Amino acid sequence: MLNSRYSRQTALPFVGEQGQARLGSARVGVLGCGALGTVVAELLTRGGVGYLRIIDRDVVELSNLQRQTLFTEHDAEQRLPKAMAAMQRLGEINSEVRVEAVVSDYVWHNALSLLSELDLVVDATDNYLTRLTLNDACLELGIPWVYGGAAGSVGMSANFLPQGPCFRCLVRDLPALGVGESCDVSGVFGPLTVVVGAVQAAEAMKLIISLAIGRSDLVEVDLLKGVFRTLSLQKDNSCPACEYGMRDFLSPEHHQSATVVCGRDSVLLQQNLADLDLFVTAKRLEARGHSVRVNKFRLQLEFFGIELILFGDGRALINGTNDTSLAKRVYNELLG
Ligand SMILES: [Zn+2]
Repeated sequence: MLNSRYSRQTALPFVGEQGQARLGSARVGVLGCGALGTVVAELLTRGGVGYLRIIDRDVVELSNLQRQTLFTEHDAEQRLPKAMAAMQRLGEINSEVRVEAVVSDYVWHNALSLLSELDLVVDATDNYLTRLTLNDACLELGIPWVYGGAAGSVGMSANFLPQGPCFRCLVRDLPALGVGESCDVSGVFGPLTVVVGAVQAAEAMKLIISLAIGRSDLVEVDLLKGVFRTLSLQKDNSCPACEYGMRDFLSPEHHQSATVVCGRDSVLLQQNLADLDLFVTAKRLEARGHSVRVNKFRLQLEFFGIELILFGDGRALINGTNDTSLAKRVYNELLG
């Protein structure tokens, strides 16, 4: 039966009814729902991927709207979690797609469980630590992932399959904090993330239809110069991850508890507090004279010009500083 929703897609020789059926039964994770993630999620939803799991820890802000295509001013005013706002919008676009929103950080201890029962993951994160963690998790689970990155006017994408070459063949260890994470300095050209997200969505769909039609090189695009170029990917025969099977980034040693958030005057503190009750914590802070706003997703308060947003899993976003030790002092003063 020809499904008219997808008729322009099934008409493509490399898709056809069989390819469309594969898309319809595929389970895909989108890790990060910012500039790249919103584009990827929308294209996969319109293309009829059966199930999407959108994982993101942040809330929608006004400064996101320049490039994060699923969100509206209303989402930013409400400070809705990005994963929830995306799920709502995607449901309006294609109600045949099952979308699951996961409002969570992606760290070493949940790296495998958050990707359970997925066929493929699309990387829409903004830092090396998360990508190295994702790389280890996907190798462990034996599933492919599609890398994407964008800063300034330059972006890139590559596919990493279980047999390698893998991301760690290219990036052996975590660069020093700040190195290579240039979006806080240089900004991001809005059209760039749409191009890179579209490349990622195309590769994800191709890998689902047939691994053989996915690209095996790295593509780089510079929208200021208006050029694409490709670089071949080589497997590193001494790679700890895909050659020796080590999963260094699935253990706590490689993870920092405080990171400066790309593009903002903020520090993210990661604490492992699974049983945190935001309403109980809010009452305790109010008893100490603080004015607190709280809902089931987050607790928010101001402290000497610094804003603290505490999430239900213990993560805290400290806005108004990029000094990690000051952020830790504020956190410990209020919540320690
Ligand atoms: Zn490797």
